[in-house]
Amino acid sequence: MAAEHDQNTGARILDGKALSEAVRARLRERIAASGRPVRLDALLVGDDRAAGIYATNQGKTCAEVGIEYVLHRLPAGATYDDVAGRVLLLNSEDSVRALMVHLPLPGGVDAERVQSLISPEKDVEGVNPANIGNVVYGRRSLVPCTALACLEMIESTGIDLRGRRCCVVGASNIVGKPIAVLLMRADATVHSTNKFTPDLPALARECDVVVAACGVPRLVTRDWVKPGAVVIDVGINRIDGPDGRKVTVGDVDFEAVRPAAGWISPVPGGVGPMTVAMLLRNVVDAALR
Ligand code: NAD
Repeated sequence: MAAEHDQNTGARILDGKALSEAVRARLRERIAASGRPVRLDALLVGDDRAAGIYATNQGKTCAEVGIEYVLHRLPAGATYDDVAGRVLLLNSEDSVRALMVHLPLPGGVDAERVQSLISPEKDVEGVNPANIGNVVYGRRSLVPCTALACLEMIESTGIDLRGRRCCVVGASNIVGKPIAVLLMRADATVHSTNKFTPDLPALARECDVVVAACGVPRLVTRDWVKPGAVVIDVGINRIDGPDGRKVTVGDVDFEAVRPAAGWISPVPGGVGPMTVAMLLRNVVDAALR
């Protein structure tokens, strides 16, 4: 692939919106062909404004592909026992086949404990540790959506990951580690790195794929990237723009890296929309299983 790279034209763009639209079209067809209802149940606790807006938008996104959306609510004063009790109740209902809990939860309610209660076969965000374990073992499992999004985008380039070296920058439980495991499952040689990794630019520069998932604005610059490499930017960072207004940037310095890379995903419009599409796919998988 590196041989095909043309420094004059720069990297090809991995258009997350277009890729996600193709996924959604296939999901619409799958749902229609199944003749069965597909539904996502989501639990929203408290009155966090951003979470409320996210939930409203999620309902619209589901409707667009033919997924019914049922939002369950608990008040801001809900305790851990209240939230846990509702999750267990939803787990027990046969009509609930795809379940997620919106974050943040009120202070004092441990999100990880709550997530670990979601039935693994209904856990469409892949946040129950049992599902991460299943990913490691290569069992059929609901994989965290952002990791799935990265893999789909890498595979859309046509690269054969077997024998390729990949550098995953960032190793959080819900993003970096699952991405590294999915790449390992594709028989790539994977470097899982973190803020303590020495001389990270030199390591990344030896790799055919770089996935940036560290939450550090524009950390990955041109000297991190081997000519022709696939660069996937997971970061979503809000920083002050030149005119003082907030702008969203990734963990990759897009303008600097584009001339060197073979493929690059933009922020916004890259991994973000694909992550939403992967959640919808997990919902359909869970519902039609
Ligand atoms: P996190 O803070 O939980 O983990 C960050 C990881 O990056 C850690 O392993 C840390 O050691 C590593 N790191 C930090 N600074 C580093 C450095 N200078 N060099 C190398 N490694 C470094 O973050 P997270 O939840 O994994 O999220 C990472 C980024 O991805 C954030 O920008 C977040 O907003 C974004 N994100 C995007 C999506 C999406 O759908 N696109 C979903 C989840 C998170």
